[in-house]
Amino acid sequence: MSTHADVLILGGGSAGYSCALRASQLGRSVTLIEADQVGGTCLHRGCIPTKALLHAAEVADTARGAEGFGVRANVTGIDMPTVHAYKDSVVGRLYTGLQGLIANRNVNVVRGTGHYAGDRTVNVDGTAYTGSAVVLATGSTPRVIPGIEIGGRIVSSDEALRLPEVPTTAIVLGGGVIGVEFASIWASFGTQVTVVEALPRLVAGEDPWASKALEKAFRKRGITVMTSTRVTGASQNSDAVSVEIDGDATLTADVVLVAVGRTPNSAGFGEAGIDVDRGYVCVDDRLSTNHDGVYAVGDLVPGPQLAHRGFAHGMFVADQIAGLRPTPVTDALIPRVTHSTPAVASVGLNEAAAREAHDEITTLVYDLAGNGKSQILRTSGGIKVILAGRNGPVVGVHMVGDRIGELIGEAQLMVGWEALPSDVAPLLHAHPSQNEALGEAMLALAGTPLHAHS
Ligand code: NAD
Repeated sequence: MSTHADVLILGGGSAGYSCALRASQLGRSVTLIEADQVGGTCLHRGCIPTKALLHAAEVADTARGAEGFGVRANVTGIDMPTVHAYKDSVVGRLYTGLQGLIANRNVNVVRGTGHYAGDRTVNVDGTAYTGSAVVLATGSTPRVIPGIEIGGRIVSSDEALRLPEVPTTAIVLGGGVIGVEFASIWASFGTQVTVVEALPRLVAGEDPWASKALEKAFRKRGITVMTSTRVTGASQNSDAVSVEIDGDATLTADVVLVAVGRTPNSAGFGEAGIDVDRGYVCVDDRLSTNHDGVYAVGDLVPGPQLAHRGFAHGMFVADQIAGLRPTPVTDALIPRVTHSTPAVASVGLNEAAAREAHDEITTLVYDLAGNGKSQILRTSGGIKVILAGRNGPVVGVHMVGDRIGELIGEAQLMVGWEALPSDVAPLLHAHPSQNEALGEAMLALAGTPLHAHS
């Protein structure tokens, strides 16, 4: 196999493999260098296994609450080996499928750790691979807190996914997306969870309305939420782990999850002459680095670290290399879903950003109390819509509630297509569905509310 390819990709995660598949579709020869397994964090240590655990957690909640629906059930415990077998079978099937897809597209996969050496060259175990174009797609790894080493009872999300038993008590450091999803999983499995967040609210990237609704729901679920609280140290022994908060008080638990963000895997790029800023690779709006013909994609590039952004970056760069002049990926239009119970989903601007961008805005919150399907599911929450001006377009949609993540597709179309409420209001929403809540919000904003007190 030649060591030169039209497109040489370093890293086979969401951004790297999507680039490989698209470049090959476009008739380019492709070499993909991967140190571990194609599919990367999303498939093996991120999105897919976490969402499998979240589904098992939902099953536990459903079974525990079954009596309230007239179904007699008795939850006698969580069998973690079987939970892991289920989760691993989902990952395994998708991994097999992905390997088949990559082989089918004639992508040359090189197994090994690649080091970018400049001059469109990547060294792997003494062999130099070159590309007419090079795509850096090495992703990110969990960030650590100085002085709080991962090991033993202190885990990152990588280890949290494989815990052999359900902890009786857990402290989650960081109330961002990862922290909130694990807090939700463990609480459903019966763990007593405390989330410690340095900022004044959970999921601080979301609209404050969503953070408030999530915190209220978490407290109702028995999850302790400590905001504006910083962890300063941790110590452990064979029985427990303790964390020091704000320099004095101490919390103790079986397990501490450190979920304080992810760091781009850019070691060595700066030495090879690539411009790097605080670990992130500097790119222009077409994802080109300062080296001619060298691109960076996914979590390496500043912006939301989301697998679907990685997919979009990878395909964009493949199209760009093929000379197709694709439209750049706009971070503001990327949908975000935190798959906790309740879920938080959003797209577009939050209220503060909308106020900054527009002279006048209109907001409306539609409460899920008025939505039949949400009542059937016994979930609460709501949908907040933000319009530019009085009549639109829709510039932001924020949602909180069980299963609400599935509504993000329509919300994304509204924001992406700059829809006016009067464009959407005449489109029927199936009854009874949670989707109707979005339809009702649009009816209300168009001045023709149906199931709303206004
Ligand atoms: P994050 O940035 O979303 O949240 C980390 C939180 O930790 C922040 O709120 C921060 O204020 C807090 N923090 C930092 N230092 C602290 C300290 N010493 N004490 C207490 N709190 C502290 O990061 P994350 O949750 O680790 O997730 C990493 C990335 O992965 C994010 O970009 C996220 O969007 C992505 N991700 C997405 C999904 C999804 O789409 N469902 C799921 C998992 C991860």
